[in-house]
Amino acid sequence: MNILVTGGAGYVGSIVAEELLRQGYQVIVLDNLQQGHKGAVAPGAEFIFADVCNAEALDGVFQRARIDAVMHMAAETVVEYSMTDPKRYFHNNIVGGIELLDAMLKHEVYKLVFSSSAAVYGDPQSIPVDEDHPKLPVNSYGESKLMFERILEWYGKAYGLKHISLRYFNAAGASESLGEDHRPETHLIPSVLKAALSKNSPVSIFGTDYPTKDGTCVRDYIHVTDLAIAHILALKRLEKDGSSCIYNLGNGNGFSVKEVIEVAKKVTGCNIKTVSASRRPGDPAVLIASSEKIKRELNWNPQYYELKTIIESAWKWHSKSPEGFKKRNSFTGKN
Ligand code: UDP
Repeated sequence: MNILVTGGAGYVGSIVAEELLRQGYQVIVLDNLQQGHKGAVAPGAEFIFADVCNAEALDGVFQRARIDAVMHMAAETVVEYSMTDPKRYFHNNIVGGIELLDAMLKHEVYKLVFSSSAAVYGDPQSIPVDEDHPKLPVNSYGESKLMFERILEWYGKAYGLKHISLRYFNAAGASESLGEDHRPETHLIPSVLKAALSKNSPVSIFGTDYPTKDGTCVRDYIHVTDLAIAHILALKRLEKDGSSCIYNLGNGNGFSVKEVIEVAKKVTGCNIKTVSASRRPGDPAVLIASSEKIKRELNWNPQYYELKTIIESAWKWHSKSPEGFKKRNSFTGKN
């Protein structure tokens, strides 16, 4: 089966592509390398340098090969920037998504796994958050993901598109060969590990006055390989019975920013310096998932649920690749 992975040179997308290949699928990665890295394209995948907003390029991709299903991960994803530049989020996440759906329909491809986010819920009214929790996003990133989920419902009703939306909580960790490398890095675990590697530069703690156990934000970290496996289970469900669905993906455990830093100190053996900073706009205080639905319906069974294991895998990758994908970052046509 041929699977198109948009955003397949990014953090989650590259590891999903790697897992698809491992399970015997053929993979075509489409990525504009704005956030992704050519060096992160899983060996064995075909790579197409293109933007999801480019209708002509998308048409070409579907014309060249029969695509059986699409995993749509290409997106703007940084909550903080979504507060100051919502236009970019709605353009890339909505307009790009619609271009992709139009190309799919034109070429009669009706199966889509969509990377959604816990950001659709906003500030949780109850914990853990299940899929029926009210959807009240507090940043334009979450709003764009929710809007696209709703578009998918309408495309399902009108055109027969089948989709599974996966609402990620906090993806973290690394596979043996691929890890997290954003420019600039805004995510907690890679920032903490970079601070550990640098010895001197501190990691900022954004907000110490939240109504949580230690005043810092609480998140539910999920290993990226467990996340990747969930995508393949979703794909299999679409192949089998073709019904659309939405699932949360988290471990059901909340860790504060300070707790993450403490575990990282133990894993790395480094004294990680910290500095208190003001709250980051758009950050909910607590996000913890209930993922019972996907466990029940798709037999998803996370293997790397311990925070220590997640951080260990990330540390292994960061220690091995302190510069990330730097040397192979720009698109030149060669590595
Ligand atoms: N965070 C922090 N310092 C950093 C990066 C993140 O204190 O250098 C906090 C951030 O405010 C949030 C949590 O860590 O409360 C997780 O942030 P991340 O960006 O990793 O994921 P998000 O929850 O925003 O998707």
